[in-house]
Amino acid sequence: MDNEDLRLAVFRTFAAGRIPTIAGLATELGTMRDTVRAGLFSLSNAHHVVLGKDSEVVMAHPFSAVPLGFSAMGKDALWWGGCAWDSFALPHLLPEQAPVLVATRCPACARPHAWNVTDREPPPGDQVAHFLVPVARMWENVVHTCGHQRIFCSQACVDTWLERTGRQRGYVMDLPTLWRLAAHWYDGRLTRGYVRREPRAAAAYFREVGLEGPFWGL
Ligand SMILES: [Zn+2]
Ligand SMILES: [Zn+2]
Repeated sequence: MDNEDLRLAVFRTFAAGRIPTIAGLATELGTMRDTVRAGLFSLSNAHHVVLGKDSEVVMAHPFSAVPLGFSAMGKDALWWGGCAWDSFALPHLLPEQAPVLVATRCPACARPHAWNVTDREPPPGDQVAHFLVPVARMWENVVHTCGHQRIFCSQACVDTWLERTGRQRGYVMDLPTLWRLAAHWYDGRLTRGYVRREPRAAAAYFREVGLEGPFWGL
């Protein structure tokens, strides 16, 4: 087993709607749990996965093993949706599962929202996404970062939430922009030999989907 085998096993387990565990991965790959643990540690250093205190996988973007405010239902698979960005990415990464029913609650007023998200066009809706943590700091605590990439009823609900929680405004975008951001960001993660984007390529991608400003490192 090399680390790319392990990375693929993690992503493909998530893609099937299951949560990978050290024990399950060891069985699947025919190796020892300690070997899986060491492999996951190295994948986490390379930001391919995020591990919890027990060394189990918490996130492998866009997949999440823990609730972060979204649920997502495909044709025959069900996921915690990760953040707004991750949830909207699922039908792009797994077009055979589209449309994916993405559901959440407005963090300000608890109103429920749901969309049929496809890989064809942005879903209708005048809700807005608010991202709290700027790109340069997203990996300092990535679970916190994803947990604060949410969808609100409106700009007014974002303002209410910021005031109530005493936080600084991050970045607000409409649903079409969120959908474009999600569309190709995770391309290749289910394929052998995936290489993460370098900062310059990431900046070019953000600009291409219509994002601007220091929040995005632009
Ligand atoms: Zn609201
Ligand atoms: Zn996320």
